[in-house]
Amino acid sequence: MSLILFGAPGAGKGTQSELLIKRLGMTQISTGDLFRAAIKGQTDLGKKAQEYMDKGQLVPDSIVIGMVEEVLQKGVKEIILDGFPRTVAQAQALDELLVKMNLSIGKAIFLEVPMKILMDRLTGRRVCKNCGSVYHIVSKPTKMEGKCDSCGAEVIQRNDDKAEVIETRLKTYEEFTSPLKEFYKKAGKFTAVDGNRGTEEVYTEIEKIIK
Ligand code: AMP
Repeated sequence: MSLILFGAPGAGKGTQSELLIKRLGMTQISTGDLFRAAIKGQTDLGKKAQEYMDKGQLVPDSIVIGMVEEVLQKGVKEIILDGFPRTVAQAQALDELLVKMNLSIGKAIFLEVPMKILMDRLTGRRVCKNCGSVYHIVSKPTKMEGKCDSCGAEVIQRNDDKAEVIETRLKTYEEFTSPLKEFYKKAGKFTAVDGNRGTEEVYTEIEKIIK
């Protein structure tokens, strides 16, 4: 079954996607990761996206939708949409794309996490510059300070995880992404999962929902 994972920044979408890929062989489409790869590759798309990302704003719908369409055209199945859609306009465009490509989404899983916890998770998050492995200064520190456990490269704080940007991202989430709850309730696909628990507990519930 293909699914949408959505929730505020720091809700655990990336962490849960990683487990779904490893254990169920699903394919992740993370628009945030795609943008970060484009920035690293210094493509035109990356340059455009960076302007918005560094400020904690959403990249315009037309850019995001075009990028997702390209990926879907590659014929992926059993997908996890991680961080997309993030606006109602994106959700509507996704519905159209799915019909066009004869694909369907079984569930839109909402990871629910209190605001205070989101702030702690985001300000403490560190990522590997090279392989993208994710750490947290308190709950999941690297074994050697500042060095990735997997590849040894430098571990840094994402530009958009700095305190001043986080505030904008959380506000942006409330205004634009939160209405997706209603959108997917109406579509009969909405399921909320308490994301304020250990990674494995959250994963077990998600697996039950999709199996
Ligand atoms: P993420 O890694 O999912 O937290 O995304 C990082 C940033 O990428 C967001 O704060 C946005 O600036 C941008 N972004 C990712 N996905 C989308 C999307 N679906 N729509 C608009 N902007 C996005």
